[in-house]
This record gives sequence, structure tokens and C-alpha cells, in this order.
Amino acid sequence: MRREEVSAETWLVVGGRPAATPGEPLNVPLVAASTYTHGSERLYTRDDSTVGWEAFEAVLGGLEGGQAVAFSSGMAACAAVLNQLPTAASLVLCDDCYQGVAGIAAEGERTRAWRVERLPVADDRWVERAASADMLWLESPSNPLLEVADLARVCGAVRRPGARVVVDNTFATPLLQQPLHLGADVVVHSATKLIGGHSDLLMGAAVTANGDELQRLRDARGLFGATPGMLECFLALRGVRTLAVRLHHAQASAEELAARLADHATVDRVRYPGFGTIVSFEIGNAGSADRACESVRLIRHATSLGGVETSMERRSALPGQEHIPAGLIRLSVGCESLEDIWTDLTAALEAASEETE
Ligand code: PLP
Repeated sequence: MRREEVSAETWLVVGGRPAATPGEPLNVPLVAASTYTHGSERLYTRDDSTVGWEAFEAVLGGLEGGQAVAFSSGMAACAAVLNQLPTAASLVLCDDCYQGVAGIAAEGERTRAWRVERLPVADDRWVERAASADMLWLESPSNPLLEVADLARVCGAVRRPGARVVVDNTFATPLLQQPLHLGADVVVHSATKLIGGHSDLLMGAAVTANGDELQRLRDARGLFGATPGMLECFLALRGVRTLAVRLHHAQASAEELAARLADHATVDRVRYPGFGTIVSFEIGNAGSADRACESVRLIRHATSLGGVETSMERRSALPGQEHIPAGLIRLSVGCESLEDIWTDLTAALEAASEETE
């Protein structure tokens, strides 16, 4: 089937499948191969891909409205985009962007004389910067403050020739926002998160609707060898098939949990952008937030996000995240029942409030 014939939810299920052939599997099989017999266009996996990652790319590209290039991790996808910037390029990054991306930018400042500016993601100055910067890098909602950019305005702003707007769409997923349709040049993903959805793989992707950009991304992947593993592709494709059900279930719970947390006596502030599966909330201080994280029984005290299991962590405990409020906990809502999550969370908040007393 073609993407334009069906809804996004249906495309998740039907995209990238082999043609229906009697006796053949419904799914793209896991093919373990680096090398192919001469005589066709597929000779070597690093250059010519595998059927598994092609299927994954077809699904994700179809959802985002472009063509996807799968990478070994989200960071590999981010690096493939950022490292195209020449010496002395100007890069504008959102304030609370993923720390790995900030790390590449800092390395670029040191070794390639990049001029890097950080702006809050909802700042009006993004539109002006589009006219002067070589690359704008936005993450919306941002992580973990969950601020939202006016993507339509920034992506549609007048740009200097060759300037590119990149949007990390990991938190929203293409089901909630499609930045390419708003005028972004590249979308990046940590497929490790909601796309894979089961905390069992590391993978990433960059998506673009521009043919030259697509070629540059494929070349970067091949040249630096940042190719996804075949098992990871198999798992990511299997995971993404249920993205819509997982996302809608978890999002409904996140919305309700955000409302309940806002009314809870121990909670000082709740951040929830009104969509998505992540809720950040602040309690007391680092000690009380740590106590809450140590007290959960159903929710997993773990980093990362977007799995079927609800997880949480105190973000400022991570290196490079010291600017985040000390008592801020990022909660990634999963697919358990809402009431079970709430029972666990309220017990943990109770333990945390004893810590503060
Ligand atoms: N972008 C965002 C928003 C992330 O949260 C992460 C990882 O946490 C990355 C990119 C990097 O992805 P990966 O861990 O798959 O390399």
C-alpha cells in the first residue's frame, strides 16, 4: 500500500511490509548478512542496507513526510547532521537540548571554531536567528523542561541561503507533530525511545524530504559506519507497529497524572505541554526527589524514556544537567493502568515528604 492511501495509524501497521505472497511471511524476516553474492545492487550491508532497515525507513519516512536514514543510535543520527557544518559555522541550539547534542556543539566550538548560541526553545529570537545562522537545532517539547517551540514560525522564517532547521522529534513522535510539513529541513529521532518503545534497543534516524540532504546523510552513515544492527532494526520495526496504541494510552495517562500531580501537596510545580507521554514535576529538593525515586515499586527508577514501562529519574543528578531544578523528576509514562501508576507515585511522594520534614 502507498502512504497516501491510509492514515498514519494504519501506515504504522502496513508500511514496509513485503507484498502478500502465498506461503511467505507477513513480516520482513530478520536477515543476518553482511555480504551478498555479486550480480545485484546489494553487495555489502554498510553501503547497500538490509531489508530490515529499509522497511523501518519506509515506515518512519512515510510518517514524517520524507525519506528516513536509519542510524545505529539517536546520537549517530544527530552527529551525521551536525558534523556537516563547516569550520566557523554558526549554530543555534535550544537551551535544554539533549546533553549529547550540546556535547557535539561544544566539541565543534573547541576544534572547528563553531559559534554556538543557546536560546530557550520558546524564545522569539529564533525567527531572527534563521536569517543569520547556518543551522537552527530545536527540540520541542524540550527535555526535561517540556517547553514548546513555535515550530511553524521558526521553520517558516526567512533564512539565509543554505541555512538549515533541524528538529529533534523524539518526544512528540511523528504522530503528534511533523516538522518537515512545517518547513524543517531535517528531523532526527532517538528511535531508542517511543519508536522502539520497549527499552531493548538503541537506534536513531534522520528524515528529510530533500534529495541532496538524503544523499549526504546516507554518505555520512556509510563513511563513518554508523549503521543500525539487524536485530535492532527488527525490534524497532516490531515496536513501531504499536506506536499509536502505546502513545495514545500513555498520553491519556500522562495528562491525568499531570493534573493529579498539580493538586498534590508535596508537588511544587508540574510541567506538561498538553500532549505527549512525559511529565516533569518538582518536589522540595534533591534529597526528597531522590527519596521519591528510590521509593517507587512499580515505576522503574531508570534513565531514558518512551518504553512501555513507566520510569522516572531526577534529571539534575546527571552530569551536565546541573542547570535543571534540583528537585525536578522526569516521569516517562508507560502502558500500565493509570491507577496502578498513581498508587505507586503517591506512595513515593509520601516517602519523599517524610524526607523533607
Ligand atoms: N535526542 C533526544 C531527545 C534524546 O532524549 C536522546 C537520548 O536520550 C537522543 C537524542 C540520543 O539518542 P540515543 O540515546 O538513541 O543515542
